[in-house]
Amino acid sequence: MNYQQYYPVDVVNGPGTRVTLFVSGCEHRCRGCYNALTWKADSGLPFDAEMEDRVIADLSDARIRRRGLSLSGGDPLYPPNLAAVKRLLARVRAECPGKDVWCWTGYTLDQLTPAQCEVVALVDVLIDGKYDETQADASLVWRGSRNQLIHRLNGG
Ligand code: SF4
Repeated sequence: MNYQQYYPVDVVNGPGTRVTLFVSGCEHRCRGCYNALTWKADSGLPFDAEMEDRVIADLSDARIRRRGLSLSGGDPLYPPNLAAVKRLLARVRAECPGKDVWCWTGYTLDQLTPAQCEVVALVDVLIDGKYDETQADASLVWRGSRNQLIHRLNGG
């Protein structure tokens, strides 16, 4: 998996102070996409073991307390991304107790494959659905268009 951006301290993408990872790779091609540069899976930089360690270290950093991890893109549930995202989230669960995971995806909850569901099982809050510019609403919080839903899972 590649990633486009990593913000070690972020107060915009989700509640509280967070770390945020924008992954590369998306097949949805929504009209009006805010980040079409992320569509190509080979764009950006490799999300390697060093980056994985960095996310875990930042989440665990007591000097700036982070509430959790936000995953966006691109699409974290783009099938070629699933193995890397699952590995990262398994580490967050094991090594960063008490941190929440928010994930934005263009798939809807009822479209998910079993492999995508395995990743979502490690997510607390899933914001789902493609961006639909005919339903765009700037007053929405954490989502861009009214068709997108915020699912609180696992007590998130
Ligand atoms: S799902 Fe997100 S990144 Fe993918 S095309 Fe739609 S708005 Fe863009």
